[in-house]
Amino acid sequence: MPELRDLYQEVILEHSKAPRNYKEPAHANHRAEGYNPLCGDRFTVFLEMDGDVVKDIGFQGAGCAISKASASMMTQTVKGKTKAEAHRIFEQFHELVTGHGHASEAELGKLAVFSGVSEFPVRVKCATLAWHTLEAALEGKQEKVSTE
Ligand code: ZN
Repeated sequence: MPELRDLYQEVILEHSKAPRNYKEPAHANHRAEGYNPLCGDRFTVFLEMDGDVVKDIGFQGAGCAISKASASMMTQTVKGKTKAEAHRIFEQFHELVTGHGHASEAELGKLAVFSGVSEFPVRVKCATLAWHTLEAALEGKQEKVSTE
């Protein structure tokens, strides 16, 4: 069995302590709230969409190290991407953290540090919460997202 500490790689700890894009962008025009009742992670994701492109993105809320680091790295990854590109990256990321399919670590770049999550099924919802919330925000949905 892998040790839990293996999951908390340096880059994950660093992002959880100093999350990037932890803000509500001044011109946000999409938002969604996400909640993971299993762990208590709760985030709001804000988007400033320019047509189909994520011009700016931010998030706020509270959660465990995995959920916060994932949200932080997600904002860095999807900024400047189109809706379709963001969706494609989430599909790859989801395959990576669930250990299913054939996630391309080359395509995922820095997000590949979350590969250890697949050994800890209870943590998958922590790692994907921000992404599910992003999808809801991209679709312009207003209702709250729950991982349950
Ligand atoms: Zn969590």
